[in-house]
Amino acid sequence: MKRRFIAGAICPKCEKMDKIQMFDDENHQRWRECVSCGFKELLVDQPNDTPQEVNTRVNQAMPGEKPLAHEDEVQVVNLIDPKKLH
Ligand SMILES: [Zn+2]
Repeated sequence: MKRRFIAGAICPKCEKMDKIQMFDDENHQRWRECVSCGFKELLVDQPNDTPQEVNTRVNQAMPGEKPLAHEDEVQVVNLIDPKKLH
């Protein structure tokens, strides 16, 4: 079982700095423990399964999204050559 001090961590009970150790128990649960006063707390990991997606729109229509008006206009101009029409 590895223990390591958390640099700069302050014990919420005795308020001493650099006395907090973090370790994992046999159930893979993470604890922090104060070596000064014996304070012990189970750390619950924050849910990390919903990463924030960065919304970047780079001149590209998203699936299910209509192209912009000017994009339609450009496409028509490129595809239809008036000289080849009757
Ligand atoms: Zn303490």
